Amino acid sequence: MENIVQKTTETVQKAKKAWAVVSLLFSPYVLVAVLLILICLLVGLIVSFPFLLASDQDKLTEVVPNSYVVAAPSQIDADGTLYFWPVPSIARVSSKFGYRDIGEGIEGHRGIDIANGKEKTENQPIYAMAAGTVTLAGSASGYGRAIYIDHGGGLVTKYGHLSAQMDVSVGDVVQKGQRIGYIGVGLVGRSTGPHLHFQIEMNGSAVNPLDYVQPPGADVPVELSYRSMNIPEVLKFLEKRKSALADVNILALIDAAGQKTNVDPNLLLAITGQEQSFVPKKNNHASEIIKNPWNVFGCWCSGKGATLTTEESAVIAAKTIVKLSADRPSGRNPIEWLSAKDNPKGYYAEHNGWWIGVSKYYKVLLDLRGGT
Ligand SMILES: [Zn+2]
Repeated sequence: MENIVQKTTETVQKAKKAWAVVSLLFSPYVLVAVLLILICLLVGLIVSFPFLLASDQDKLTEVVPNSYVVAAPSQIDADGTLYFWPVPSIARVSSKFGYRDIGEGIEGHRGIDIANGKEKTENQPIYAMAAGTVTLAGSASGYGRAIYIDHGGGLVTKYGHLSAQMDVSVGDVVQKGQRIGYIGVGLVGRSTGPHLHFQIEMNGSAVNPLDYVQPPGADVPVELSYRSMNIPEVLKFLEKRKSALADVNILALIDAAGQKTNVDPNLLLAITGQEQSFVPKKNNHASEIIKNPWNVFGCWCSGKGATLTTEESAVIAAKTIVKLSADRPSGRNPIEWLSAKDNPKGYYAEHNGWWIGVSKYYKVLLDLRGGT
């Protein structure tokens, strides 16, 4: 009997403990905690949803978003002020430092070319980037007529493809911003038109001039301004991805849209990578999407955005980049700025990861040019 009573008591106690656990589970505190966890999960899912949608299946090498960006001159003159842009009347860099395609294959470019069409380039005056001593004023192998200035401290600037008319001669001491000569007339070397070849050397090695000087008031930051697309390599890249954009004519008109607006066509193509995964052929709507893979006017799928040709949408996308590039605060990444919510001109895309995806594809496409 006692045994039974004891057992019953034990059972009752067990039941009480179980009830305590159950009631704790359903207590308001636990319910609130569970609800909070669920809300957090839901918010996380909503926030990451566009990334999940837009993410590309292919694993591309992770890039540091700033790896190719020269946002502002990193070198300052010894007197603490900025160096002088050598052609104040021209803000356009027609060929960048590093590698470029000159039609006969890719070769290293030891400086930048500054040009803006024949009319606005020929005979434009050029100015010393910094104070120094003229060490050459005349013919120089590879640069036609040139002026070299030694600024001391291992820093030398070279100005090539000049007019015979010069303001300085060897041994002259020049001040920063002093006029030294003029851009030459006509075709020079293997280039396609008149330009200033501007080269900076530090201790004998060519360095990127854009680390020292920036074009004044350019519409598009120099990092995003026009440079040629390596169409054969880009074609191979797109064919590998079974992209509907793998078509020489489409790539040529993207390049043309870039030239028209001074926007890098590689950037335009990178945006189609982010917006449409380069339009896979297997997509049922591929033939419609390639007409507007930039989703200008919101979407390729409806309204005005569904009425465009590839050429029209490429130009509109490029013009949008020009517009959005304005008013970029110094130090802001130029691609991030295109979709920044604090950009007073608006933003390219709604979701915050857009620029990271675009930067990733842009880096890949620029690498196809054979250099950095
Ligand atoms: Zn050059």
